[in-house]
Amino acid sequence: MSNCIFCKIIAGEIPSMKLYEDELVYAFLDIAPINFGHVLVIPKEHHESASTIPEATAGRMMKIGTRLGIALKRALDYDAYNLHLADGKAAGQVVMHAHLHVVPRGVDDDFRWNWRQKQYADGQAADLAEKVMNKFKVSEQE
Ligand code: AMP
Ligand code: ZN
Repeated sequence: MSNCIFCKIIAGEIPSMKLYEDELVYAFLDIAPINFGHVLVIPKEHHESASTIPEATAGRMMKIGTRLGIALKRALDYDAYNLHLADGKAAGQVVMHAHLHVVPRGVDDDFRWNWRQKQYADGQAADLAEKVMNKFKVSEQE
């Protein structure tokens, strides 16, 4: 994709602080980190949505993301890490080249995900589960 900022990073046309690269994925520091060391892991192939990334590449993203999370803990004294992926603008995706965030976390880092918790009414969860399963296809990539 000629006007994609992450494709340009992979091609070396825009600078990045690279942490890892192989034939499938590229990992680099997020330019505006939640905590210092915040990493992005991206497929080398351009995919807007994670749903079209081939399984081998998606698996590699998860493998490298978790390994980098461990490296962040060991190297920078973090306690944990979050993996985060926004798929679609309404979910907060700003750069439309799919990417996995690896966010290093400390017990006292003063960052809270804004995570609310609703409650299902009687029967609502079963109705909803049936609707979803009627549309669920494992083999589909869209
Ligand atoms: P998202 O909101 O999930 O699409 O996240 C996009 C992320 O890309 C943000 O955290 C940005 O800080 C990061 N970002 C945007 N441009 C660059 C860049 N040139 N180098 C590194 N990270 C970037
Ligand atoms: Zn791209």
